[in-house]
Amino acid sequence: MNTSTTRHKNLVIVGSGPVGMVAALLLKEHFEQVTLLERRTEEDFLQAHGFTFPIVFSPASIRILQQIGVWDAIHAERSEFFGVGIHQRVLGHEFTFTSVREGVYSHWRNHVVAKLYEQVRTAGIPIHFESHVEAIDLQNNVCREARLGDLPFDLLLGADGSNSQTRRLLAQAHPLFPEDSFKRIGLDHWYAYRVPSRGAMRERFAGGERHYASNVFLSNLAAYPSEKFRIVTTHMRQPEEEISILIKHDPAITPSRLKVLNDSYFGPLVGSRQELDAAWQAGYAGRFDQVQAPAFHLNHVLLIGDAAHGLETAGDLINLGVTSAGCFREVLGRHANIPAALEEYDATAGAALRSYAAFSYRRSQEKIDFEVFSIEFAHRLGITKRHPTLWGIYDEDFELVPYLRNYQRDIVKARSLVVGLVAGLVTLALFLGRRRTAT
Ligand SMILES: Cc1cc2nc3c(=O)[nH]c(=O)nc-3n(C[C@H](O)[C@H](O)[C@H](O)COP(=O)(O)OP(=O)(O)OC[C@H]3O[C@@H](n4cnc5c(N)ncnc54)[C@H](O)[C@@H]3O)c2cc1C
Repeated sequence: MNTSTTRHKNLVIVGSGPVGMVAALLLKEHFEQVTLLERRTEEDFLQAHGFTFPIVFSPASIRILQQIGVWDAIHAERSEFFGVGIHQRVLGHEFTFTSVREGVYSHWRNHVVAKLYEQVRTAGIPIHFESHVEAIDLQNNVCREARLGDLPFDLLLGADGSNSQTRRLLAQAHPLFPEDSFKRIGLDHWYAYRVPSRGAMRERFAGGERHYASNVFLSNLAAYPSEKFRIVTTHMRQPEEEISILIKHDPAITPSRLKVLNDSYFGPLVGSRQELDAAWQAGYAGRFDQVQAPAFHLNHVLLIGDAAHGLETAGDLINLGVTSAGCFREVLGRHANIPAALEEYDATAGAALRSYAAFSYRRSQEKIDFEVFSIEFAHRLGITKRHPTLWGIYDEDFELVPYLRNYQRDIVKARSLVVGLVAGLVTLALFLGRRRTAT
């Protein structure tokens, strides 16, 4: 272990998403040469209207963005964020429950990408657009790119998102894990489009007189009008006064069926059929995925960001990607030997992120009721500290590794408490029942 910062030669980063760029800016002092490879064209990469969901940065992420000197520029384009509204059907009637947040701001991915890109250019780090990685030699530490040829590396970061090519190559070469234990599981599909914020749409979803637009998230349009029907809106100001609608749906629902469902629900709220059709046609589709990787590293290669732990959550991913890059910088600062640094990072931050990913997967499947109940109950008794939804990543003192470790411990305590209490009550009931029969 070495406490003085060792300067290595080459860092190659595959993927220039937010996490790839944050990592480049954080690690540039540790390497003589940093190279970012980006598959997309520069124009696509900076897509002017590329937003779907708002990003709310956690205090821990903000601190890292401040360290790399980009927070002020990102924050200058903030959007006010007013909280969350839940439109729920109860006994055939729709009610809206709101949770207002003050002093919280949201950002759009394209703004974040543009500002990080400016900072990367200012730092003199080259991004090679339209790059095509042909192979990564994990034994000899060479990455072959179609135009640049062989790129030797001391460290290669796979920051290439949830459909990571680096993860696939690492999985094929990994001696300890079968390739199929590195999984990308499709959860749901989504379709997003935007409509002007006016008339009945504005009244219903954008706060009426308050004149701000909002983000509408429908997770079960197909269930309308059942009692389970629910819409979540994030109340915020968008770049323009409009409402963005994101519909999460089962892959079994075809695009044409989805449009019929959409028309039947939103048709009466949008000015005209033509307007709704035009907005729908301009929309775009995507998927929510869960990534499972039993290890994030091999030799001199590390997966980071969505490539390592992509999952479907409300903006947690970008925060976890940014904070994990911060953790990695700290670990690297303590080691002269890169594989040793990767080992330590994987055993600490990696383990925490994998447990978070598993929790988040259950949350997306709505299979955490018992966990939520137990920990809430234990918390009320003062036995556990942590909130089950892990909105704790927005706490001022959030630190990735200790926080998630505590959470794991708290879950075990809380579950044992509830199971113990239930078992005690059942035993008592049986005992009393027997006594009554005996007398
Ligand atoms: C287009 C897009 C829009 C998004 N919009 C939002 C949003 O509005 N709100 C939100 O909260 N989250 C959004 N996300 C998700 C969020 O931005 C990510 O969770 C977060 O950015 C994680 O960052 P990342 O850098 O790990 O991965 P990503 O943001 O996925 O970035 C990965 C990058 O790697 C590039 N890449 C992929 N494969 C290769 C390869 N083989 N070689 C070279 N480059 C490669 C991709 O083009 C991409 O630029 C979006 C993601 C994408 C890709």
